[in-house]
Amino acid sequence: METRVFTCIRCPMGCELTASISEHGVITVKGNACIRGEQYAKKELINPLRVLTTTVRVIGGIQALVPVRTRGEIPKEKIMDGIRQLKQIQVKAPIQIGEVVVENLVDSGVAVIATKTVRKRE
Ligand code: SF4
Repeated sequence: METRVFTCIRCPMGCELTASISEHGVITVKGNACIRGEQYAKKELINPLRVLTTTVRVIGGIQALVPVRTRGEIPKEKIMDGIRQLKQIQVKAPIQIGEVVVENLVDSGVAVIATKTVRKRE
């Protein structure tokens, strides 16, 4: 049996969760004050996902960087590869909030979008 301890991040209460998975794949969760904690712990144990937020360099903008995030969650183990991929790209100003800067980050099937508008430098 594998047991792991997590802090639930689904609400500010931050319940400490103990999740165990048996040899037969049965998962039990303790310490959760609500069903969301159980769902969170199961997901963390089987397939942890995260939204990636970072910045991307801008060419010709009034700011040198634009904040970006993935449009959805990607596998946690792909986060560092995603950061490396985004460090290598540059986007050309102007950039509109919500604009896609990468269609399919590290083959996750998830796009990366700008979270701020960056105008072109005059
Ligand atoms: S288990 Fe429920 S109450 Fe506890 S932190 Fe998670 S969401 Fe909040």
